[in-house]
Amino acid sequence: MSPVIIYIKMITANELRRLYLDFFVKKHSHREIKGASVIPDNDPTVLFTTAGMHPLVPYLMGEKHPEGTRLTDVQKSIRTDDIEEVGDPSHLTFFEMLGNWSLGDYFKEGAIKMSFEFLTSNRADGGLGFSTKNLAVTCFAGDNDAPRDEEAFNLWLGLGMPKERIAFLPKKDNWWGPAGQTGPCGPDTEMFYWTGEGEAPEIYDPENKKWVEIWNDVFMQYNKKADGTFEPLKQTNVDTGMGLERVLTILSGVKSPFETELFTEVIEEIRLLAGYSEPSAEQILSERIIADHLRAATFILGDPMGVVPSNTDQGYILRRLIRRAIRHAKKLGIEVDFIRKISGIYVKLYGEFYNELNDKQEKIYEEMAKEEANFNNTIGKGLTVLRKEMQKLESVKNKGVQAFAEDFCFEMFATYGFPIEMTIEELEADGWIKAAEDKQFVMSKFDEFYKKHQDLSRVGAEKKFAGGLADHSEEVVRLHTATHLLHKALRTVLGTHVEQRGSNITAERLRFDFSHPEKMTDEQKKLVEDIVNEQIKAALPVSFEEMTVPEAMAKGAIGLFGDKYGEKVKVYTMGDPSKNNVFSMEICGGPHVKNTSELGSFKLLKEEACATGIRRIKAQVSANLK
Ligand SMILES: [Zn+2]
Repeated sequence: MSPVIIYIKMITANELRRLYLDFFVKKHSHREIKGASVIPDNDPTVLFTTAGMHPLVPYLMGEKHPEGTRLTDVQKSIRTDDIEEVGDPSHLTFFEMLGNWSLGDYFKEGAIKMSFEFLTSNRADGGLGFSTKNLAVTCFAGDNDAPRDEEAFNLWLGLGMPKERIAFLPKKDNWWGPAGQTGPCGPDTEMFYWTGEGEAPEIYDPENKKWVEIWNDVFMQYNKKADGTFEPLKQTNVDTGMGLERVLTILSGVKSPFETELFTEVIEEIRLLAGYSEPSAEQILSERIIADHLRAATFILGDPMGVVPSNTDQGYILRRLIRRAIRHAKKLGIEVDFIRKISGIYVKLYGEFYNELNDKQEKIYEEMAKEEANFNNTIGKGLTVLRKEMQKLESVKNKGVQAFAEDFCFEMFATYGFPIEMTIEELEADGWIKAAEDKQFVMSKFDEFYKKHQDLSRVGAEKKFAGGLADHSEEVVRLHTATHLLHKALRTVLGTHVEQRGSNITAERLRFDFSHPEKMTDEQKKLVEDIVNEQIKAALPVSFEEMTVPEAMAKGAIGLFGDKYGEKVKVYTMGDPSKNNVFSMEICGGPHVKNTSELGSFKLLKEEACATGIRRIKAQVSANLK
């Protein structure tokens, strides 16, 4: 252990969040905003919120934020693209990003000075108390598109960062965006902390993994145009992200986030249930998988958007996380009713900052128990089928995994709820999968058949759009407006128990999930479609106003109020209040069309079950078909 760490006072995650937020609120006049839901609202491009900047994209694109131009928050995030890596010392499915934001306010000088002050000022002065001796930074090296970031370099130098500790790196390391083909982007500067033994080397070597990245300041100053050139942006923004778990690991003087207070109690509980005290390396891996997956699952189930285990989208990821945790618990000899205990520890640990977990804890436990029972039910049947098949093919085992029917793994999933990695593990254990290529082959066959059963493989989409930029194309904006009309029409026809449970929009169609206990009748569907079309024909103007949540409620706005109390929100109105013909009022970040007539006409394509008590509608508008 580095001797420096001993002198740093231990800190809890709750204290670290407070320290960060207070630093920006009290010392640098930021407004603290509540982080967004971990399930993105109206974003077709990702399953989960994957970074702190993700929910703020519309404001980084130039929309006015109701809370002003200096913001700070803690954002719950989930990354599932590398689910296989979970359990290694650093990968986490769920993580928290601390961030501060400038929307056309301060730029490089302000951002770098604040970052430096927070990193190096003493705990008593509201900072982390890191010594400059343990810090290094990187700046953008410059290329044909944009020059070397001398400004950032000189700012760090001026603050006392030795020039040997400042590295210039190319675009692949020190540049953000654009998320799509065009849009805002710019260089960033990254901050690293020395986690190796003894004193940090005088010269910073970016290849040395003992330097751990802890913070990233992105400077959005260019707009990438369709012709591939870069022009300066009118409004420059700053977007920063500091990984809470990473910093807590450093401040706790340990090697892995799994050794911090965020996990120690859970891991102790797992050992207690499993009945050992000195785990093997393999057992440690299983402990970490259980701890990581159930933490992520607790947050997904505890989210205001209310996802439950299912065979599609977020529900499928949730199912995989829970089932993989159960499988590893079984490996450790833990049989029943452990999920509630583990989840309960997380609710207790996080409930103070994330009140939604306290509010929804009964639902979280109930859904987890249900999933555990479902899984135990089908798993036995599935295992029998899988083992029979392996036996049957034993004589052609030399063919390897190719001996199985092409859709075998998908059928295991579709019929028995076997997550693909579980089938893979069984195949591995029985000697069918020997090399990485075998595994890849199985995965690609599974994906192929899974995609055939989905309009869109959301898992793949998530990787592709990891930058988190929402699609604000005309098509998506039209369908977003149609979603508001549909939401209101459903409440009119079915009743006010109808609440949004999820929304996903592509250029081709909208998809809207809502609470309703039964299948809609043909008459109800027709009525909903007619109402939406009437509102389109009426050519209602669309406008928005900023107000507080109580004001919005008093006006009868619908939407997710969540924990946004005290903050200002945008309320979109469809209709003309002065003529008393307001049809829909909904809390929403936008954007929307100017007039409902722009949608052309509305067609309901499909109404189906999505999960228990939740229905799903797919629909399109004619303006997008031209
Ligand atoms: Zn909306």
